[in-house]
Amino acid sequence: MRLAVFDNHRVGVVEGDTLYDVTSAVPEAGPQWPPVYMSRLIADWATRRPQIEAARHASTGVPVASVTLLPPNPCPVHVFAAPVNYARHVGEIGARSVSAGKSPNEMCFFMKATASLVGAGGTIVLPKDSARRFDHESELAVVIGRTAHHVPRAQAMAHVFGYTCLMDLTMRIEPGIPQEERVTRKSFESFTPFGPFLVTADEVPNPHDLRNRLWVNDELRQDARTSSLIVDIPGLIEMISSVCTLYPGDVIATGTPEGVGPIEAGDTVRIEIEHVGAMSLPVRHAEAYAPRRF
Ligand code: MN
Repeated sequence: MRLAVFDNHRVGVVEGDTLYDVTSAVPEAGPQWPPVYMSRLIADWATRRPQIEAARHASTGVPVASVTLLPPNPCPVHVFAAPVNYARHVGEIGARSVSAGKSPNEMCFFMKATASLVGAGGTIVLPKDSARRFDHESELAVVIGRTAHHVPRAQAMAHVFGYTCLMDLTMRIEPGIPQEERVTRKSFESFTPFGPFLVTADEVPNPHDLRNRLWVNDELRQDARTSSLIVDIPGLIEMISSVCTLYPGDVIATGTPEGVGPIEAGDTVRIEIEHVGAMSLPVRHAEAYAPRRF
């Protein structure tokens, strides 16, 4: 099943190019803060899936293109991310990376602010007039389905609810400029495009053999397969759950392959992951300066 969140925090099921509104089966959905209805739906999925299916059959579809897609979980408790994680990306950006020469096995994971999530219907917004370099990273995201604490890799895949596309956008460090923490540089509002839909695990035949591609305008910048992940999905769940508890609806960005590069205002960035989906977001500069400029 492909789950969507759209417009004013409504929930949909997507089949082909058609979206079926199933909000009647998610009574807690809506814009009131905090928007945690998808995490609750995921936590109770076994009992609630039949209600979602019934609502889908009672619904008249509309074209997906006629709605505005929000992140398919707007407010996960955690957004975890793996650094690097494809061998051919290691060292690729040299001194602009704090990961230079290190493996994801050594570095483990980092966090992105939940507030950096944006849906497929959103826009990537760069700080106004910034001279810094902002890069794209094309990543498969795993969405957790069950509370996971100290999960050994042999049991890890049973904790996966589904998958989405995710762009891990990053402000790079520069020689001569004080180095901000990685979490700061990756947490600007809209720096985590996430979607377009949440695809349940039963629809993805092998998450470790998916083509992952990203284009800037018409230029193919990244093209790799998830079979090249250094720390695979069970490894990431084992590692993260050894440190803290993962909750239903939590997101793990699995790391970027080679080919990362800059994006600029006026560009359109497209991500496509086999069996998971595709989305394109425009890039623009913010209209106003933040109190702290970057
Ligand atoms: Mn990344």
